[in-house]
Amino acid sequence: MTDKYQQDEELEELEELEETEKPGGDTGKDGSSDKNADYEDVCFVCRRPESKAGKMFKLPNSICVCDDCMHKTMDAVSQFDYQGMLTDPQFQKDMDNMLKGGMPNIRFVNIADLQGEGGIPNKQKIKKKKENVQPVLNIKDIPAPHKIKASLDEYVVGQEHAKKVISVAVYNHYKRVATGTMDDIEIEKSNMLMIGPTGCGKTYLVKTLARLLDVPLAIADATSLTEAGYIGDDIESVVSKLLAAADNDVEKAERGIVFIDEIDKIAKKKNTTSRDVSGESVQQGMLKLLEGADVEVPVGANSKNAMVPLATVNTRNILFICGGAFPDLEDIIKERLTKTASIGFNAMLKDAFDKEKNILSHVTVEDLRKFGMIPEFIGRLPVIYTLEGLTQEMMVKILKEPRNAILKQYQKLLELDEVKLEFNDEALEAIAEKAMKRDTGARALRSIIEEFMLDIMYEIPKDDNIGRVTITREYIEGNGGPIIDIRSNLLLESSDTLKEYAQN
Ligand code: ADP
Repeated sequence: MTDKYQQDEELEELEELEETEKPGGDTGKDGSSDKNADYEDVCFVCRRPESKAGKMFKLPNSICVCDDCMHKTMDAVSQFDYQGMLTDPQFQKDMDNMLKGGMPNIRFVNIADLQGEGGIPNKQKIKKKKENVQPVLNIKDIPAPHKIKASLDEYVVGQEHAKKVISVAVYNHYKRVATGTMDDIEIEKSNMLMIGPTGCGKTYLVKTLARLLDVPLAIADATSLTEAGYIGDDIESVVSKLLAAADNDVEKAERGIVFIDEIDKIAKKKNTTSRDVSGESVQQGMLKLLEGADVEVPVGANSKNAMVPLATVNTRNILFICGGAFPDLEDIIKERLTKTASIGFNAMLKDAFDKEKNILSHVTVEDLRKFGMIPEFIGRLPVIYTLEGLTQEMMVKILKEPRNAILKQYQKLLELDEVKLEFNDEALEAIAEKAMKRDTGARALRSIIEEFMLDIMYEIPKDDNIGRVTITREYIEGNGGPIIDIRSNLLLESSDTLKEYAQN
């Protein structure tokens, strides 16, 4: 789905390039060709399109300048005295003589040209927003939570609770965005905090969601953020990433999603006497972003220092999702749980919760505070939920079930060579077992498969007779090879089954 969308976009970009490379190509002399309707002028100085900057002054050589920039230039010029040249009577006399004499290569700008009356049409154009491609969200367009979850189910395995919570939160958020305020009762933003071990699908869940909803997504890493003025990325750079993801369209960015990963790394540092510029200060700095503020971000650059125009983005309707593994949080939860149950007849043993698998799901705001998140920060992330660590069965499902499952990808690759790739159940279990040992979640699956598929992808194209390859547990464990079937045998097999079918 996305591939097709990407291809379409690339095609459009190509068209756009051709358009700019061929000045005067398609456009008629009067600039009235049909294609022109899809394009608009951009200011030569600040690069804003006509729809944002207002009517343009059209200068010779297809240059357009917006009203603001034109006035700024005029002001700058009028304040400049040319070191007294303009008031110097001798200079004025010389100029008069020169004009009377008629200097061949000097022409003066005619103000009528500046107004663009009958002027040459501007060739620098950008695509106008197509309303039918990006419909503005209205309440009827927002899919109901069960539909959002059903779409997520196609890609993300397990994590039922997380998918349910995220679907409802997203539904409510976009309902809020679409309606604005309802009868003075302002609906609060549903920013989220996702807690789950590494490789369990946090980023994947958000990415899938953004793709399904067709909203821009920025993924930032909290570890690289520091308080403004220190080495590292400014906190506001996350909004600038979102603006870039929305093709510098402020309106589109304002209803996008920002995912901040590794949020546990900005916990308050313990036992520190120096200023905590990458921990607590980042949390403080994020408060206003999370709640909703006007942020000035550079357009098309990461730094405000560069000579780039700034755009104001309001973060009120941007959905912030923070995610992290919170490694020591389990101990804090266990400690709390055992403490509350350690007195009286129902007292529990100290290690009573050691065996419990999803201890993270018992998390409370108090635990997070103890971990080092400041209360104001947690308060702005009202939807808190946890993701489970992946089990072996989930790993097997991740291998084969999602729409773009890894196995499906390899099968498709070999299908192009007209070879069938199959994995028997024991082989899948062996891969999952190996992945569980690495403790990096589903990320390990890909690297394990890459390892043993290398030989197969190398050998198969050598021999045209190969019709089917079956991967076995022995091959994964290095005790044997895959089962190879020759094309002619497969043909016999299929004719046998056809015969059986005909007899029945
Ligand atoms: P993290 O939780 O550390 O952000 P990711 O979301 O980046 O982990 O997961 C890494 C990869 O593992 C994803 O690209 C995805 O292909 C796969 N994956 C992880 N969890 C799941 C899941 N529940 N269902 C399907 N694929 C998953």
